[in-house]
Amino acid sequence: MKYYARPVVKLIEELSKLPGIGGKSAQRLAFHILSMDEKAAFEIASSIIDAKKKIKKCSVCGNLTDVDPCIICSDEKRENSVICVVESSKDIAAMERIKEFNGKYHVLHGAISPMDGIGPEDINLKSLIVRLQKEQVNEVILATNPNIEGEATAMYLARLIKPAGIKVTRIAHGIPVGGDLEYADEVTLSKAMEGRREL
Ligand SMILES: [Zn+2]
Repeated sequence: MKYYARPVVKLIEELSKLPGIGGKSAQRLAFHILSMDEKAAFEIASSIIDAKKKIKKCSVCGNLTDVDPCIICSDEKRENSVICVVESSKDIAAMERIKEFNGKYHVLHGAISPMDGIGPEDINLKSLIVRLQKEQVNEVILATNPNIEGEATAMYLARLIKPAGIKVTRIAHGIPVGGDLEYADEVTLSKAMEGRREL
């Protein structure tokens, strides 16, 4: 690294902050970017700035969006009576790909993880409770990831929501334990939704 010009070192350092990008990959990407024509490289930089400036969390469901409420929350063709709770906006994309769910979503932006010091107050939970009080919701589907944190979060939510007389279901396994919803194939995810059980 010491043989590289300072701006190159800075670029490598910044790129290596991205998930899954180690030092070697960061160097490879940095030199690729430097070999691109100026317009293409600027396009990457400006799209990062543009997305960071325009994307906010939906004030209703927490989904990442450039319009508030997000297009799913403001879609009148979708049922308000069913809310599917997911950990991240990427999970909404996974659920939407199976084209079977026509309710609304709620994005927690994380999961409860006492080991990492993440408690219920650290995830987007308060706004879910507000929704359940304001809207006529018949079912809450817990589609958190099938790992320890996701299960702990589902159990916590079930205990919190069920006393209000709302049906709480958990998507079935089939999604491998320890797996991520966003990587589940469509058939698996569709079966998991079909086989959801009441908590
Ligand atoms: Zn929304």
